[in-house]
Amino acid sequence: MVVTKPKRKSVAADFMMKPAKGQKKSRENPVSVVSMDNETPDKWLTLSLDEVLESDQKLWVEPRRYFRGSGAGNECVRSLTFEAMGHRVPFEARVLRIFGVGNAIEKVIVDATKKSKILVKGSDQLEGKIVDPLIICHVDLIVKRLTDGQLFLGEIKSIKLENFKRLPPEHGPTRAGDSPLLKNHAGYVKQWNTYAWTPEVDLQYGFLLFENKNTQHQKLYWLERDDVLHEEILKVHREAFPYILEDPQMVAPIPMGLDPGLGQGACRWCDHKYLCKRIPKKGADYDEVRKIDAKLRG
Ligand code: SF4
Repeated sequence: MVVTKPKRKSVAADFMMKPAKGQKKSRENPVSVVSMDNETPDKWLTLSLDEVLESDQKLWVEPRRYFRGSGAGNECVRSLTFEAMGHRVPFEARVLRIFGVGNAIEKVIVDATKKSKILVKGSDQLEGKIVDPLIICHVDLIVKRLTDGQLFLGEIKSIKLENFKRLPPEHGPTRAGDSPLLKNHAGYVKQWNTYAWTPEVDLQYGFLLFENKNTQHQKLYWLERDDVLHEEILKVHREAFPYILEDPQMVAPIPMGLDPGLGQGACRWCDHKYLCKRIPKKGADYDEVRKIDAKLRG
Protein backbone atom coordinates (compact mmCIF):
# COMPACT_ATOMS: atom_id res chain seq x y z
CA MET A 1 0.00 0.00 0.00
CA VAL A 2 1.28 3.45 -0.93
CA VAL A 3 0.85 6.53 1.18
CA THR A 4 -0.83 9.34 -0.69
CA LYS A 5 1.27 12.40 -0.10
CA PRO A 6 -0.66 14.75 2.25
CA LYS A 7 -1.36 18.25 0.95
CA ARG A 8 -1.07 19.91 4.36
CA LYS A 9 1.86 19.71 6.77
CA SER A 10 1.29 18.15 10.19
CA VAL A 11 3.26 16.17 12.76
CA ALA A 12 1.28 13.04 11.88
CA ALA A 13 1.77 13.55 8.16
CA ASP A 14 5.52 14.08 8.65
CA PHE A 15 5.69 10.87 10.65
CA MET A 16 3.74 8.87 8.07
CA MET A 17 5.97 10.05 5.24
CA LYS A 18 9.23 9.60 7.12
CA PRO A 19 11.28 6.71 5.72
CA ALA A 20 12.04 3.83 8.07
CA LYS A 21 15.47 3.73 9.70
CA GLY A 22 18.10 2.76 7.17
CA GLN A 23 15.69 3.22 4.28
CA LYS A 24 16.14 6.00 1.74
CA LYS A 25 13.16 8.16 0.81
CA SER A 26 12.69 8.06 -2.94
CA ARG A 27 10.01 7.88 -5.64
CA GLU A 28 10.90 4.20 -6.28
CA ASN A 29 10.85 3.33 -2.60
CA PRO A 30 7.56 4.72 -1.21
CA VAL A 31 6.80 4.41 2.51
CA SER A 32 4.49 1.47 3.15
CA VAL A 33 2.29 2.35 6.11
CA VAL A 34 -1.40 3.18 6.50
CA SER A 35 -3.33 5.09 3.86
CA MET A 36 -3.62 8.85 4.26
CA ASP A 37 -6.55 8.97 1.84
CA ASN A 38 -9.72 9.68 3.83
CA GLU A 39 -11.99 8.31 1.12
CA THR A 40 -10.43 4.86 1.25
CA PRO A 41 -9.30 4.57 4.87
CA ASP A 42 -7.15 1.57 5.60
CA LYS A 43 -9.18 -1.30 7.05
CA TRP A 44 -6.44 -3.24 8.79
CA LEU A 45 -7.43 -2.14 12.29
CA THR A 46 -11.16 -2.89 12.04
CA LEU A 47 -10.43 -6.13 10.20
CA SER A 48 -8.01 -7.23 12.93
CA LEU A 49 -10.55 -6.42 15.68
CA ASP A 50 -13.38 -8.19 13.86
CA GLU A 51 -11.35 -11.22 12.90
CA VAL A 52 -10.14 -11.98 16.40
CA LEU A 53 -13.74 -12.06 17.62
CA GLU A 54 -15.18 -14.00 14.73
CA SER A 55 -12.45 -16.59 14.24
CA ASP A 56 -13.13 -18.76 17.29
CA GLN A 57 -16.67 -19.61 16.31
CA LYS A 58 -17.53 -23.15 15.28
CA LEU A 59 -20.13 -24.24 12.73
CA TRP A 60 -20.85 -27.34 14.81
CA VAL A 61 -20.29 -28.04 18.50
CA GLU A 62 -20.43 -31.27 20.46
CA PRO A 63 -23.99 -32.67 20.49
CA ARG A 64 -25.67 -32.71 23.91
CA ARG A 65 -28.47 -34.73 25.39
CA TYR A 66 -30.11 -31.92 27.31
CA PHE A 67 -31.67 -28.54 26.63
CA ARG A 68 -30.57 -25.15 27.86
CA GLY A 69 -32.80 -23.03 30.08
CA SER A 70 -31.81 -19.91 28.16
CA GLY A 71 -33.66 -21.41 25.19
CA ALA A 72 -36.80 -22.28 27.17
CA GLY A 73 -38.85 -19.89 25.05
CA ASN A 74 -38.16 -21.87 21.87
CA GLU A 75 -41.55 -23.02 20.59
CA CYS A 76 -40.28 -25.19 17.73
CA VAL A 77 -39.53 -28.85 18.52
CA ARG A 78 -37.36 -29.15 15.39
CA SER A 79 -35.32 -26.09 16.35
CA LEU A 80 -34.69 -27.54 19.83
CA THR A 81 -33.28 -30.68 18.18
CA PHE A 82 -31.03 -28.63 15.86
CA GLU A 83 -29.68 -26.79 18.92
CA ALA A 84 -28.98 -29.96 20.88
CA MET A 85 -27.36 -31.56 17.83
CA GLY A 86 -24.79 -28.76 17.88
CA HIS A 87 -25.71 -26.75 14.77
CA ARG A 88 -24.45 -23.17 15.06
CA VAL A 89 -24.53 -20.09 12.88
CA PRO A 90 -21.57 -17.79 13.55
CA PHE A 91 -22.25 -14.23 14.62
CA GLU A 92 -20.67 -11.21 13.01
CA ALA A 93 -18.24 -9.23 15.15
CA ARG A 94 -20.73 -6.40 15.75
CA VAL A 95 -23.17 -8.86 17.38
CA LEU A 96 -20.39 -10.42 19.45
CA ARG A 97 -19.48 -6.96 20.73
CA ILE A 98 -23.13 -6.48 21.73
CA PHE A 99 -22.93 -9.71 23.76
CA GLY A 100 -19.75 -8.43 25.40
CA VAL A 101 -21.50 -5.22 26.42
CA GLY A 102 -24.41 -7.28 27.80
CA ASN A 103 -22.00 -9.31 29.94
CA ALA A 104 -20.35 -6.14 31.22
CA ILE A 105 -23.73 -4.67 32.19
CA GLU A 106 -24.62 -7.86 34.05
CA LYS A 107 -21.31 -7.75 35.90
CA VAL A 108 -21.83 -4.16 37.04
CA ILE A 109 -25.26 -5.05 38.45
CA VAL A 110 -24.10 -8.26 40.13
CA ASP A 111 -21.12 -6.42 41.65
CA ALA A 112 -23.53 -3.83 43.06
CA THR A 113 -25.66 -6.56 44.67
CA LYS A 114 -22.46 -7.97 46.21
CA LYS A 115 -21.43 -4.61 47.65
CA SER A 116 -24.89 -3.97 49.03
CA LYS A 117 -24.77 -7.43 50.64
CA ILE A 118 -28.03 -8.62 49.07
CA LEU A 119 -26.43 -11.18 46.74
CA VAL A 120 -27.05 -14.75 47.87
CA LYS A 121 -25.77 -16.54 44.76
CA GLY A 122 -24.46 -15.47 41.37
CA SER A 123 -24.27 -17.25 38.01
CA ASP A 124 -20.87 -18.78 38.77
CA GLN A 125 -22.33 -20.54 41.81
CA LEU A 126 -25.69 -21.82 40.72
CA GLU A 127 -26.84 -24.32 38.11
CA GLY A 128 -30.46 -25.45 38.18
CA LYS A 129 -31.75 -28.63 36.53
CA ILE A 130 -35.22 -29.58 35.40
CA VAL A 131 -35.05 -33.37 35.32
CA ASP A 132 -37.91 -34.42 33.00
CA PRO A 133 -36.83 -33.56 30.36
CA LEU A 134 -33.31 -32.50 31.25
CA ILE A 135 -32.99 -28.69 31.02
CA ILE A 136 -29.87 -27.08 32.46
CA CYS A 137 -30.19 -23.50 33.69
CA HIS A 138 -27.49 -20.95 34.52
CA VAL A 139 -29.06 -18.53 36.93
CA ASP A 140 -27.96 -14.87 36.92
CA LEU A 141 -28.55 -14.16 40.60
CA ILE A 142 -30.56 -14.77 43.74
CA VAL A 143 -30.89 -11.79 46.07
CA LYS A 144 -32.19 -11.38 49.62
CA ARG A 145 -34.43 -8.57 50.87
CA LEU A 146 -32.64 -7.47 54.01
CA THR A 147 -35.79 -6.40 55.90
CA ASP A 148 -37.34 -9.89 56.02
CA GLY A 149 -34.82 -12.27 54.44
CA GLN A 150 -37.10 -13.17 51.50
CA LEU A 151 -35.22 -14.50 48.45
CA PHE A 152 -35.85 -13.49 44.84
CA LEU A 153 -34.64 -14.97 41.56
CA GLY A 154 -33.26 -12.35 39.16
CA GLU A 155 -32.47 -12.26 35.45
CA ILE A 156 -30.70 -9.31 33.87
CA LYS A 157 -31.29 -8.29 30.27
CA SER A 158 -29.59 -5.49 28.38
CA ILE A 159 -31.64 -4.00 25.60
CA LYS A 160 -31.17 -1.34 22.92
CA LEU A 161 -32.79 2.08 23.17
CA GLU A 162 -35.66 1.53 20.69
CA ASN A 163 -36.73 -1.72 22.38
CA PHE A 164 -36.32 -0.23 25.86
CA LYS A 165 -38.77 2.52 24.91
CA ARG A 166 -41.27 -0.10 23.76
CA LEU A 167 -41.20 -2.03 27.06
CA PRO A 168 -44.56 -2.08 28.89
CA PRO A 169 -44.93 -0.13 32.17
CA GLU A 170 -43.03 -1.71 35.07
CA HIS A 171 -45.14 -3.99 37.25
CA GLY A 172 -45.24 -5.50 40.72
CA PRO A 173 -45.55 -9.26 41.37
CA THR A 174 -47.49 -10.72 38.42
CA ARG A 175 -47.91 -14.35 37.39
CA ALA A 176 -45.39 -14.97 34.62
CA GLY A 177 -48.13 -16.07 32.21
CA ASP A 178 -50.00 -12.78 32.76
CA SER A 179 -47.06 -10.40 32.37
CA PRO A 180 -47.40 -7.93 29.49
CA LEU A 181 -43.74 -8.75 28.77
CA LEU A 182 -44.96 -11.96 27.16
CA LYS A 183 -45.99 -10.00 24.07
CA ASN A 184 -42.49 -9.04 22.92
CA HIS A 185 -40.18 -10.83 25.35
CA ALA A 186 -41.80 -14.23 25.87
CA GLY A 187 -38.42 -15.95 25.68
CA TYR A 188 -37.10 -14.03 28.70
CA VAL A 189 -40.25 -14.64 30.78
CA LYS A 190 -40.22 -18.35 29.95
CA GLN A 191 -36.52 -18.56 30.78
CA TRP A 192 -37.10 -16.91 34.18
CA ASN A 193 -40.10 -19.15 34.86
CA THR A 194 -38.13 -22.31 34.03
CA TYR A 195 -35.28 -21.29 36.33
CA ALA A 196 -37.75 -20.59 39.15
CA TRP A 197 -39.05 -24.19 38.99
CA THR A 198 -35.66 -25.92 39.19
CA PRO A 199 -35.25 -27.70 42.55
CA GLU A 200 -31.97 -25.81 43.12
CA VAL A 201 -33.76 -22.44 42.89
CA ASP A 202 -37.37 -23.24 43.87
CA LEU A 203 -38.45 -19.63 44.40
CA GLN A 204 -41.93 -18.21 44.01
CA TYR A 205 -40.96 -14.63 43.25
CA GLY A 206 -38.30 -12.71 41.39
CA PHE A 207 -37.70 -10.18 38.66
CA LEU A 208 -36.53 -9.38 35.17
CA LEU A 209 -34.33 -6.30 35.17
CA PHE A 210 -33.88 -4.56 31.82
CA GLU A 211 -31.07 -2.07 31.33
CA ASN A 212 -30.96 0.30 28.38
CA LYS A 213 -27.62 -0.19 26.58
CA ASN A 214 -27.50 3.43 25.45
CA THR A 215 -28.51 5.33 28.59
CA GLN A 216 -28.20 2.76 31.41
CA HIS A 217 -31.76 3.48 32.56
CA GLN A 218 -33.40 0.43 34.10
CA LYS A 219 -36.89 -1.07 34.27
CA LEU A 220 -37.93 -3.75 36.72
CA TYR A 221 -40.68 -6.36 36.34
CA TRP A 222 -41.60 -8.44 39.38
CA LEU A 223 -42.76 -11.94 38.53
CA GLU A 224 -44.46 -14.85 40.27
CA ARG A 225 -43.69 -18.30 38.89
CA ASP A 226 -46.47 -19.88 36.91
CA ASP A 227 -47.17 -23.64 36.85
CA VAL A 228 -49.42 -23.46 33.76
CA LEU A 229 -46.75 -21.67 31.73
CA HIS A 230 -44.18 -24.15 33.03
CA GLU A 231 -46.24 -27.13 31.79
CA GLU A 232 -46.55 -25.49 28.33
CA ILE A 233 -42.77 -25.13 28.15
CA LEU A 234 -42.17 -28.71 29.33
CA LYS A 235 -44.65 -30.07 26.77
CA VAL A 236 -42.60 -28.68 23.84
CA HIS A 237 -39.33 -29.90 25.36
CA ARG A 238 -40.74 -33.36 26.14
CA GLU A 239 -41.77 -33.71 22.53
CA ALA A 240 -38.23 -32.88 21.38
CA PHE A 241 -36.43 -34.97 24.03
CA PRO A 242 -36.70 -38.47 22.44
CA TYR A 243 -35.02 -37.16 19.26
CA ILE A 244 -31.94 -35.96 21.14
CA LEU A 245 -31.70 -39.23 23.07
CA GLU A 246 -31.60 -41.29 19.85
CA ASP A 247 -28.29 -42.71 18.73
CA PRO A 248 -27.46 -41.13 16.32
CA GLN A 249 -29.41 -38.03 17.29
CA MET A 250 -32.30 -36.97 15.08
CA VAL A 251 -33.72 -33.69 13.82
CA ALA A 252 -37.47 -33.70 14.52
CA PRO A 253 -40.07 -33.29 11.73
CA ILE A 254 -41.29 -29.79 10.91
CA PRO A 255 -44.08 -29.01 13.40
CA MET A 256 -47.61 -28.41 12.10
CA GLY A 257 -48.22 -24.79 11.19
CA LEU A 258 -44.55 -23.94 10.55
CA ASP A 259 -42.93 -23.55 7.15
CA PRO A 260 -39.25 -22.53 6.91
CA GLY A 261 -39.83 -21.65 3.26
CA LEU A 262 -42.34 -18.96 4.24
CA GLY A 263 -40.18 -17.77 7.13
CA GLN A 264 -43.09 -16.62 9.26
CA GLY A 265 -43.82 -16.93 12.98
CA ALA A 266 -41.13 -18.92 14.83
CA CYS A 267 -39.29 -19.46 11.51
CA ARG A 268 -38.80 -15.74 10.96
CA TRP A 269 -35.74 -15.30 13.17
CA CYS A 270 -34.66 -18.93 13.31
CA ASP A 271 -30.91 -19.49 12.84
CA HIS A 272 -31.54 -22.97 11.49
CA LYS A 273 -33.87 -21.83 8.70
CA TYR A 274 -31.44 -22.16 5.77
CA LEU A 275 -30.65 -25.75 6.79
CA CYS A 276 -34.16 -26.67 7.93
CA LYS A 277 -35.48 -25.92 4.43
CA ARG A 278 -33.10 -28.48 2.95
CA ILE A 279 -33.52 -31.31 5.46
CA PRO A 280 -36.39 -33.75 4.76
CA LYS A 281 -39.64 -32.53 6.35
CA LYS A 282 -40.00 -35.80 8.26
CA GLY A 283 -36.59 -35.35 9.90
CA ALA A 284 -33.11 -36.80 9.45
CA ASP A 285 -30.30 -38.28 11.49
CA TYR A 286 -27.08 -36.55 12.56
CA ASP A 287 -24.89 -37.86 9.70
CA GLU A 288 -27.39 -36.88 7.03
CA VAL A 289 -27.80 -33.38 8.50
CA ARG A 290 -24.02 -32.88 8.65
CA LYS A 291 -23.67 -34.08 5.05
CA ILE A 292 -26.28 -31.64 3.77
CA ASP A 293 -24.76 -28.78 5.77
CA ALA A 294 -21.26 -29.60 4.52
CA LYS A 295 -22.49 -29.12 0.94
CA LEU A 296 -23.86 -25.71 1.89
CA ARG A 297 -21.18 -24.33 4.19
CA GLY A 298 -18.19 -26.52 3.52
S1 SF4 B 1 -37.02 -22.78 10.43
FE1 SF4 B 1 -38.99 -22.95 11.44
S2 SF4 B 1 -39.51 -25.13 11.40
FE2 SF4 B 1 -37.35 -24.93 10.92
S3 SF4 B 1 -36.32 -25.19 12.89
FE3 SF4 B 1 -36.59 -23.02 12.58
S4 SF4 B 1 -38.52 -22.53 13.58
FE4 SF4 B 1 -38.47 -24.72 13.33
